[in-house]
Amino acid sequence: MILKGQLHTHTSMSDGKLTPQEVANEYSRLGFHFLAFTDHDHLLRPSYWDEIQKVRSNLFIFSGIELTVHCSKGYVHVNKIEARDEIIHIFNHPADCDLTVRETIGCVKEVAEKYPIDAIEITNHGFYTPQFDILEIPYLKIAADDSHNRMGCGRGWIEVEMGNDITHDTILKTIKSGKYRNCFTGKKSQKNNITGGTQDLRFS
Ligand SMILES: [Zn+2]
Repeated sequence: MILKGQLHTHTSMSDGKLTPQEVANEYSRLGFHFLAFTDHDHLLRPSYWDEIQKVRSNLFIFSGIELTVHCSKGYVHVNKIEARDEIIHIFNHPADCDLTVRETIGCVKEVAEKYPIDAIEITNHGFYTPQFDILEIPYLKIAADDSHNRMGCGRGWIEVEMGNDITHDTILKTIKSGKYRNCFTGKKSQKNNITGGTQDLRFS
């Protein structure tokens, strides 16, 4: 079974416009099967963890946080998403760091000394950034929305090839094993003006 998933969203618990329940409703409407809330650590409302537990949805909901991580080039963002036993760390939207690809590679290396990075995003607000979708960055590549409002939902996502055993843990485990593909709506990249194509059918 293929599960459609979103690993990067923001809610009104940090700088997003929609409440956690509204975010879950929107992704449900868009046909998603799982969703991670990843609000910013430095803007987090104290009730965040309680509020995301209260969300009622037909989706698998993951608790997560977008960490602000300092490095020699300034700071970058890393998503930490948790299931019961499994955790995934994703280096977020490198295009946002205003670094060259070479500098990004150095920066990911530096951050990986502090956090066990599993993957790197190849999207910026859901738009494909192909310059980071390269073998020289030796991590899984992930498409995600980084949505902050309704308009930002459903631009970039992953589709995971699951077996029969579907739990929060097996979903993260399957992603970490690379059995998924990145998908894009094909809207143009803001910074690079490159079209992502309707669906990228490569398996990462
Ligand atoms: Zn974000």
